Amino acid sequence: MNTKIIRIDMEKELDAQLLNAAEILKNGGVVAIPTETVYGLAANALEETASKKIYEAKGRPSDNPLIAHISCMDELPALVSEIPEAGQKLAEKYWPGPLTMVFPKAKIVPYGTTGGLETVAVRMPSHPIANRLIKLAGIPLAAPSANTSGRPSPTKADHVIEDMDGKIDMIIDGGEVGIGLESTIVDVSGEIPMLLRPGAITIEMLRETLGRVDIDPAIMGPMSADMKPKAPGMKYRHYAPKAEMTLVEGEMEKVVEFINREAKAALAEGKKVGIICTEESRAYYQDGILEVIGSREHEETVAHNLFSVLRDFDDRQVDCIFSESFSKDRLGQAIMNRLCKAAGYHIVNV
Ligand code: AMP
Ligand code: MG
Repeated sequence: MNTKIIRIDMEKELDAQLLNAAEILKNGGVVAIPTETVYGLAANALEETASKKIYEAKGRPSDNPLIAHISCMDELPALVSEIPEAGQKLAEKYWPGPLTMVFPKAKIVPYGTTGGLETVAVRMPSHPIANRLIKLAGIPLAAPSANTSGRPSPTKADHVIEDMDGKIDMIIDGGEVGIGLESTIVDVSGEIPMLLRPGAITIEMLRETLGRVDIDPAIMGPMSADMKPKAPGMKYRHYAPKAEMTLVEGEMEKVVEFINREAKAALAEGKKVGIICTEESRAYYQDGILEVIGSREHEETVAHNLFSVLRDFDDRQVDCIFSESFSKDRLGQAIMNRLCKAAGYHIVNV
């Protein structure tokens, strides 16, 4: 398949630049789009055949449900059988934005989109390109991250081109995304709202609006065989770089000492070593390829760079990666969730 790649000029009128993409989507095609979280792979959420194309392009297991994206509140009632109070409150506060909510689904949402579930995940993106395109297409768009299943999510058009060129109809290059981590997912279909995936809308923010919010235990720990995460996608080892990754927790001095020692040993075995460090620690590493993920003072930067750093290490074909770890508060919860998963929960405490 010949994949059209278009670059959006935000200085120019948007609608004219998006008309072709909207046509493709209306006709059941697949278009990669920038959103404020990561790039998404969009298709008509109400057509099973369209969501099937998404699963094929990603190589994604089809029990892993897709998020339906809408452009404004008027589009929500058609997709859900009920809007619980918690959902209404969060929508008022955080939509459009990086928050996905799970609702009881309406009949028109096919099981092909929900992975066979009776619920549907819905998000209203704030990114001007994503939001406008949904409006122009006139349909809700299913849009999982635009990476090959198992690879780190794409935060730049180049990442999408790497994974999707030749597999989908169009890629819209809207520059780098803002946040860099996938949306927060909260299930509002039950009695007590439950956080299923941490993201930029933090658990602290959710609790401030709703009071009690439970956390799906699958978020931080490794999954045991009998544990079933509420967001089916959380069980897969996604976000993973190709190299074996070790996440090192502890006081900074000890972490640096451990990584330096392990890196030396790996190098002596002829391995290529990558190290994920911070502005604060970069000067203390002796060997290996350093990637500075950001400053501990600016968690937003760490989130923004995370997937890109993992992809860079793939490009450089390192054999093993050692990463520093972060606090699990606020945005740190999302950062650590992705790093833990990338490491396949290979975590060392020093
Ligand atoms: P992605 O589209 O790559 O951001 O991944 C979507 C995530 O949303 C996956 O972890 C899914 O398992 C989760 N998800 C989508 N729909 C539902 C749903 N109805 N209930 C629970 N989790 C969902
Ligand atoms: Mg994904």
